[in-house]
Amino acid sequence: IEERIDEVSSLFFTKYPPVKFLSEKDRKRILITGGAGFVGSHLTDKLMMDGHEVTVVDNFFTGRKRNVEHWIGHENFELINHDVVEPLYIEVDQIYHLASPASPPNYMYNPIKTLKTNTIGTLNMLGLAKRVGARLLLASTSEVYGDPEVHPQNEEYWGHVNPIGPRACYDEGKRVAETMCYAYMKQEGVEVRVARIFNTFGSRMHMNDGRVVSNFILQALQGEPLTVLNGLVSLMNSNISSPVNLVNPTYRSPLRSQIQFLPEAQDDPRRRRPDIRKAKMMLGWEPVVPLEEGLNKTIQYFSRELEHQANNQYI
Ligand code: NAD
Ligand code: UDP
Repeated sequence: IEERIDEVSSLFFTKYPPVKFLSEKDRKRILITGGAGFVGSHLTDKLMMDGHEVTVVDNFFTGRKRNVEHWIGHENFELINHDVVEPLYIEVDQIYHLASPASPPNYMYNPIKTLKTNTIGTLNMLGLAKRVGARLLLASTSEVYGDPEVHPQNEEYWGHVNPIGPRACYDEGKRVAETMCYAYMKQEGVEVRVARIFNTFGSRMHMNDGRVVSNFILQALQGEPLTVLNGLVSLMNSNISSPVNLVNPTYRSPLRSQIQFLPEAQDDPRRRRPDIRKAKMMLGWEPVVPLEEGLNKTIQYFSRELEHQANNQYI
């Protein structure tokens, strides 16, 4: 009966999104570093709604309080303004280690800080995991494959990264973060999980993310010319005269936009194709949001953000 009352009251009487009731033994204390960011805040929502206790640690470099403010005050939620480069002493069962700028303009803004966050920050979180016996999941990236020479990329591929290029602070930072995870696993018995995430998009992603999806949508919404980098240039310079699908499905701009060519960014991967058979086979995981639906959600979010910015400009 108590369970039912909890469910019903969380639906009707509180200002929070509905939260499932979990018994003490199933409820976990979960730390999400970078939890105020794009991916982290969605993860926060999911784990909170599943009934866990969630602590978000963030220095608000690229994240925003706004992304998690709907949980502030909830008894299962805590938000700590903290930089993972500094040690952290708390008690948890699981750590999702996401703290790191993720998009090129953000991680190149202060490369030394990006390196510190991914190296010292990861070391600290592994030290924490070791002390409290927590499992740590590292949000790694497809960037560990660099500018790949093998297609598609499966997890066995070691990558092709320029160690002194402008993206190295992120790529090598994540590679060393992975190395640290497996060193702590082998030497200290820490349980680790490493997810290599490919470009993700959706609501709460940064409008100035700098990568193709956000650039494309933002410029179309603002009536600026579309920027299509690698695909069009390589198609232009190839000898293929028949039609070639570049992005599937093709984004249909609500405005008629001109296409503008920009020089390729240095060390930008020329081609990337994920091989997700391992995740499918071992985790039964595959992306569930169709591309078109994901794009639509992102577009709606960007429209609202632009409106919000326009409204606040004159206050
Ligand atoms: P994001 O920038 O929205 O989130 C990162 C969060 O980490 C932000 O809230 C930021 O303030 C916080 N942060 C940064 N440095 C910190 C520090 N020193 N201490 C505490 N907090 C810090 O980025 P995102 O897209 O949500 O990415 C989350 C994670 O997933 C990152 O580790 C990123 O490398 C990884 N990833 C993301 C993508 C993607 O497409 N979004 C792809 C591959 C990997
Ligand atoms: N650390 C932390 N929280 C903890 C335990 C450790 O932030 O609860 C940090 C600690 O400051 C150290 C790092 O994690 O810099 C690595 O910890 P570890 O115990 O592996 O190394 P040691 O402290 O023995 O050098």
